Amino acid sequence: MASVSFLGAAGTVTGSRFLVESEGRRVLIDCGLFQGKSELKQKNWAPLGLDPKTLDAVVLTHAHIDHTGYLPRVVQQGFGGPIFATPPTKALLDIMLPDAGRLQEEEARFVNQAGYSRHKPALALFTEEDARRVLPLVRRAPFGESFEVAPGISVTYHRVGHIIGAGFVVVETKKPGGAQRIVFSGDVGRKNVPILKDPEPIAAGDYVVLESTYGDRLHGAEDPKEALARVCERVVKSAGILLIPAFAVGRTQEVLYHMRTLQREGRLSPKLPIFVDSPMAISAVDLYCEYTPEHDFEMEQLRSQGACPIEGPSMQFARSSDESKRLNNLRGPAVILSASGMLNGGRILHHLVRRLPDPDTVLLFVGYQAEGTLGRRILEGAKDVEVLGHSVHVAAQIEEIPALSAHADSKELLDWLADIPEKPREVFLVHGEDKARNAFADSIRQKLGFEVSLPKQDESRELE
Ligand SMILES: [Zn+2]
Repeated sequence: MASVSFLGAAGTVTGSRFLVESEGRRVLIDCGLFQGKSELKQKNWAPLGLDPKTLDAVVLTHAHIDHTGYLPRVVQQGFGGPIFATPPTKALLDIMLPDAGRLQEEEARFVNQAGYSRHKPALALFTEEDARRVLPLVRRAPFGESFEVAPGISVTYHRVGHIIGAGFVVVETKKPGGAQRIVFSGDVGRKNVPILKDPEPIAAGDYVVLESTYGDRLHGAEDPKEALARVCERVVKSAGILLIPAFAVGRTQEVLYHMRTLQREGRLSPKLPIFVDSPMAISAVDLYCEYTPEHDFEMEQLRSQGACPIEGPSMQFARSSDESKRLNNLRGPAVILSASGMLNGGRILHHLVRRLPDPDTVLLFVGYQAEGTLGRRILEGAKDVEVLGHSVHVAAQIEEIPALSAHADSKELLDWLADIPEKPREVFLVHGEDKARNAFADSIRQKLGFEVSLPKQDESRELE
């Protein structure tokens, strides 16, 4: 009999970790960090809840840190088995995990210098070196082919939009007289967004472990490119700074693609300086341009005409931290894209200290802001916030373009699930705050008549 245990992302949008057990074999689907509230982040210090040496394999749906960032800890704790990822995910991990380790070290150093840690001395959750120990374990896995990850357990990847390399996975375990199929959605992307192919239809599964980030929300009908044009126009007029906190991988490239399109259409000056201030985002731009099998038709057409359609003539990269700090002297109009997307770390923080008090700054949110993050507080209207030990007044204009999200909204998710070839025995909702997943559970029950449950942290379920 197979079972699935929910070791994270149960009632929150971070810390994706799901354990599949079958006939004495153990496979972990995703191995993410908790982010947001401090009691959540505290969980990253706790052991996995099982001995990592007893895991046969790890299977990753995509490269985002809330799905992969706990890997260095698991390897520290003795895991040495294979980690499966699609080729773009593997390429992303090569840059993202060491970067995450470097950030952890920088943060610990900063906190120790500033002396405001409760823990003395503050330690890095993992170092760049710890992160590098993960990389040799990562194996490239194909899309669309079933392969065995442990005796009796096989996996198939299908494209799911969201970010480059992202997949949903179908896990097959043996049971008397047949196989048991469990679909893990990972993060489900949107249709008709630039650059990437659309999500593939959901595959058949006896059980579905489904994300529910936007389970209680619709993104609205406004075209994201038009919304972006509107905000850019305002910034150009007031000669202000458009500050966009964006996930380095995914959101940054999509925003750049839209800006480049607006420039090509003559609606945005090709001279408007656009700064990409995140080394990881810069590497990811190259990767997005290179991985042609992931491109949709439009992207490939533009690319075949010459330069990569994500990069434009007025785009400038801030690679070093000195280049990043020099942007504090920058006068508008200009655009600065920087990470992290939820304002919970990274270079965006020093931009906030510099720009939030300025009413000519527009701070534009283009992705989900989890509970407990600075991004959520500002989005909800906080007027005075604490950033890098400074108390900062928020005079900047706050904007949001939900349609730029990398996640399907509640209708898109429901439509995706409705396409399942046979009615599943049960749907487990994960990767959503409770308000969102409760609302989404109700609409699945009402509109599709499926059995739905909302697993709790560390809950295990036997699969019939
Ligand atoms: Zn993601």
